[in-house]
Amino acid sequence: MTPRLMPHAALTAIIALALGACKTNSSGPPNILYGQDVCADCGMIISDEHFAAAIAETDDGAGPALIFDDIGCMLAYQKEHEVNPKRQRYVHDYASGAWINAESAFLIKSDSIATPMASGLIAFRQRALAQVALRDAAQHPQTYSELLTPPDAERPASTSSKR
Ligand SMILES: [Zn+2]
Repeated sequence: MTPRLMPHAALTAIIALALGACKTNSSGPPNILYGQDVCADCGMIISDEHFAAAIAETDDGAGPALIFDDIGCMLAYQKEHEVNPKRQRYVHDYASGAWINAESAFLIKSDSIATPMASGLIAFRQRALAQVALRDAAQHPQTYSELLTPPDAERPASTSSKR
């Protein structure tokens, strides 16, 4: 099978399209200048990528990307501000230091790790690593959604002991 040559015009159109798509691509984690950029919630300088989190800019570019020094700051910001749920949220994989989608991350609250704003929250791409880092088999890693809206967190104790 011999590949057919694509007409030159069509090829340049595709390349232009691809470049354009790259340029206007609003999804994807923002670039953080560590040691310079400040947290959108607490105003502190973001210095450690392991704990940094971000909310992507809006599709139309009207809302700039929001960056945070601590996953706890992103949670606090989302609880205080209306954020379009379609905007992608990002955290760093504590193991590799890479950006990962907050929705698919396994988060734990660690007592032994000092995060910038003391939330103790770190994220992992792999559930098994998160479980190991928890160092407590009775506890389980949580998702970002669970942390944002804890299920039945405030259930009154009185309802369970009715006799
Ligand atoms: Zn902060």
